[in-house]
Amino acid sequence: MAANTSGALPITVRNITKTYGDVYALNDVSIDVQSGEFLTLLGPSGSGKTTLLMVLAGFTRPDRGSLLFGEQEMIRTPPHQRDVGMVFQNYALFPHMTVAGNVSYPLRLRRVSKSEIEARVAQALDTVQLGGYGERGIDQLSGGQRQRVALARAIVFEPRILLMDEPLSALDKKLRDRMQIELRRLHEQLGMTTVYVTHDQREALTMSDRIAVINHGRLMQLDAPEAIYNRPANQFVADFLGESTFLSVERQNGEIVYQGAPLRLADAPPEGNLLLLMRPERLRLLGAGASVGIDDQMNAFPASVTDIVYQGDSYLLYGRLPDGEEISLRGATHSDARSQLPKVGDAITLGLHANDAVLVRADGDR
Ligand code: ADP
Ligand code: MG
Repeated sequence: MAANTSGALPITVRNITKTYGDVYALNDVSIDVQSGEFLTLLGPSGSGKTTLLMVLAGFTRPDRGSLLFGEQEMIRTPPHQRDVGMVFQNYALFPHMTVAGNVSYPLRLRRVSKSEIEARVAQALDTVQLGGYGERGIDQLSGGQRQRVALARAIVFEPRILLMDEPLSALDKKLRDRMQIELRRLHEQLGMTTVYVTHDQREALTMSDRIAVINHGRLMQLDAPEAIYNRPANQFVADFLGESTFLSVERQNGEIVYQGAPLRLADAPPEGNLLLLMRPERLRLLGAGASVGIDDQMNAFPASVTDIVYQGDSYLLYGRLPDGEEISLRGATHSDARSQLPKVGDAITLGLHANDAVLVRADGDR
């Protein structure tokens, strides 16, 4: 299959709301997905990801709002006329059909000729690296192979939009890691506008051009992976994307102050009620109780070591700040770093560079 980016379509989601009784599955969601983009919906279980995907596919009708593919309003268009390929969470393969029977299904629905079906099924199976598997039964396949069959069935009619709902969640971690890279490569090859759903933040960071973080049916932030991780808009996004502790800060005379000391910040602070985001991998060890290495861009936090946990690829050092807050630092495990590790009970100074000092809005303050 040749790259067909020219056939890809932008998606415009405008003020979409969907309620089930008292529950807002989607609450006034607006998202622009660019033509050919790989956009991920990321959020915890029950946040509305599947509902939004079902609205895009046409299986769920929203209460309010508009949905455009290109310039065309789609809300009233039935699923089979939307030109959308879909991979469901549980694959939803037909167990009694062969691999080829499953993959050819969308083409038979569209009354494509027999000879063309054969050629396109073979091509789709090649694309997902299942060439020669056409006559196998579904029950003869591994989880990863079933997932590829579902994918081949979703792309065989060359839809302009591809929707995937947690397609890797049933696979073990090794296979999942490999499939993430493969799906990404396939997207680059085929170029279709893709909306991908996951609750796994690392998967979202690995695969996406942009990530839409949703919670309780609301869009929290829509941005590129690095921006979402490094500049989360609020406490929820920061917490969901990575290990985080938050320190309460105050505004005093135009400065942001923690425990009486003004913070050194690279960016102007946002409005509202703020918290300082402390990520373990952004903290550094400045030296036991000393001020060594503190330059004018460094924020220093005295702490005492409460625990050290070895995790193989890194260690986690837990410390307590004078106000009782628990924070953690992730460190390297190479021999130099190991030889300088403090011990439980030691007084240390943790450093947070101004460039790593990120303020986020406290939840409920949006
Ligand atoms: P996610 O895919 O992020 O886990 P869903 O979109 O499936 O979340 O669900 C969002 C919310 O809407 C949840 O509270 C869920 O219970 C509710 N919901 C979804 N589908 C239905 C339905 N058909 N009937 C009633 N409630 C539903
Ligand atoms: Mg879901």
